[in-house]
Amino acid sequence: MFSKVLIANRGEIALRVLRACKELGIQTVAVHSTADQDAMHVRLADESVCIGPPPSRDSYLNIHQIVAACEITGADAVHPGYGFLSENAKFADILEAHGITFIGPTADHIRIMGDKITAKKTAVALGIPCVPGSDGEVHDVEQALEVAKETGYPVLIKATAGGGGRGMKVAHNPGELSEALSTARSEALANFGNDAVYMEKYLGQPRHIEIQVLGDGEGNAVHLGERDCSLQRRHQKVWEEANSPSLNENQRMEIGEICAVAMRKLKYRGAGTIEFLYENGEFYFIEMNTRLQVEHTITEAITGIDLVNEQIRIASGAGLSVSQEDIRFHGHAIECRINAEDPSTFVPSPGTITHYHPPGGLGVRVDSGVYQGYKIPPYYDSLIGKLIVHGRTRVECMMRLRRALDEFVVDGIKTTIPLFRDLLANPDIANGDYDIHWLEKFLADKAGK
Ligand code: ADP
Repeated sequence: MFSKVLIANRGEIALRVLRACKELGIQTVAVHSTADQDAMHVRLADESVCIGPPPSRDSYLNIHQIVAACEITGADAVHPGYGFLSENAKFADILEAHGITFIGPTADHIRIMGDKITAKKTAVALGIPCVPGSDGEVHDVEQALEVAKETGYPVLIKATAGGGGRGMKVAHNPGELSEALSTARSEALANFGNDAVYMEKYLGQPRHIEIQVLGDGEGNAVHLGERDCSLQRRHQKVWEEANSPSLNENQRMEIGEICAVAMRKLKYRGAGTIEFLYENGEFYFIEMNTRLQVEHTITEAITGIDLVNEQIRIASGAGLSVSQEDIRFHGHAIECRINAEDPSTFVPSPGTITHYHPPGGLGVRVDSGVYQGYKIPPYYDSLIGKLIVHGRTRVECMMRLRRALDEFVVDGIKTTIPLFRDLLANPDIANGDYDIHWLEKFLADKAGK
């Protein structure tokens, strides 16, 4: 096992990793920008190193500074959390070259899944169902028309280097295709410096369902069921639940087993998430995230398995602590992402938290890096905490969530807590009846009133 882990992240996820390390008896090193010197992850770590000024590119994305911090402190492994350098293959390579373990998959697997076309081809080869579409890049309108004839309209043009839902265009008929193709290309070039695009059938009312996997890198892998992350705003997840209200036990085990088999074939190492769109009983692969997800907590709630502990065990060579037969799903869990934002306009609301009281009690978990008197810096994303609630049934979980939201006090800044109260009062949410477009429509209706 490692003796000292450096956590290359900030906020709630840095704390999450720190907790897992402490339970394993591992020393921790926090890194921080000058804006984060009073942050909780810095206070709780055994050691801390300042790695640069506030902008992420100069601190949390600064590979040289992070490697130097490892050398200074003698850390033998790095946990990247999510975001920042967590899916940076070069970072994984550099750490390995310095004899420091990257707690994550191999750099090759990060690269394969980081390129959308390669990821899709790999998924097909591994037997994972994909959205019908072009076989690789689409170069011109003639080729696009051919592909659309095969898949049927509407079609979606996507950037191969895409991310964050940018660079995507829908065409409903052959007339719209040429313009959609050129707009998607120029947006892709502007956003990602690469104008390569590919095509998929556009799904009208899918849900976003993702499967959590763990692999030991030696050909053993398990799945830990699904998460339903359909409630999104601008392709950002807002509320996640496990299990999905739309899957039954057979469907869950079937898609889960397809993913686990694929990960065994790939000899995948560490935690990963295989994301699908789900429509009319069919799953369509969209991407794989080769890291821990923000919403891993709801999987932990229903399985009782500590995913960060598993990541660290796997990276140290100790393998998986569970086999597929050991994994059972208990009850229902929901995560609400609490952002420092105006709940109607979503404009960020940094500033000082003048009063803070997180909810507690049975089945309630709050993962957050904030405290009373903490000043939220304006430089980073606005997630300030996650409220995770677990109940024996979905109904019990929703009642507990309502109670927990009522208890939650964050004064001095605006947060998205009121949005979750509105969602809980909605019959579609109560019935679990929503797709990936539902939240945008709900917010547009609310703004129109
Ligand atoms: P990104 O890496 O930009 O997030 P994804 O491929 O993961 O790109 O897609 C982002 C989102 O775009 C999905 O969560 C879904 O809402 C939508 N989307 C992607 N592909 C399709 C598709 N074929 N049909 C309908 N919606 C899609």
